[in-house]
Amino acid sequence: MGDATRGELVRFPAVGCRFFQLGRCLYEERLNPGYHADWRCVVLARWEAVYDDFLDRAENFGLTETELGVLWGKRFERLAEESVPCPDVRAADVDSMPECRHLLEDVCLLRLPVCAGQCERFRLRENP
Ligand code: SF4
Ligand code: SF4
Repeated sequence: MGDATRGELVRFPAVGCRFFQLGRCLYEERLNPGYHADWRCVVLARWEAVYDDFLDRAENFGLTETELGVLWGKRFERLAEESVPCPDVRAADVDSMPECRHLLEDVCLLRLPVCAGQCERFRLRENP
């Protein structure tokens, strides 16, 4: 006996939905960008924390913006060379920082809700 005959809802695939990305749903993120802090890429979040710490320390030395830029450039080189603290990172086809196919802007797609097929929020992608 098939799923439909058991009364279970069979949803149409949602790949044409404007909120669909690699099997995840962007609806909530588009509605309230940045609201879910735990959806952010952990690597980016770490880099930002290191940068904030760097700025706090640098303030005490009264450096110029140019000096700050040079120092941060060196610090970031070391940071980027360190092993990426995320087991889910995957090589990307496009340039991104960090280089990961799950990264969309500053959000990690793996952290978004899974799309289970077309729902009432389905909206056709404008430029498929
Ligand atoms: S999987 Fe990729 S996008 Fe997600 S947290 Fe890890 S590095 Fe960031
Ligand atoms: S069909 Fe619904 S759950 Fe799936 S991506 Fe679109 S809005 Fe999200």
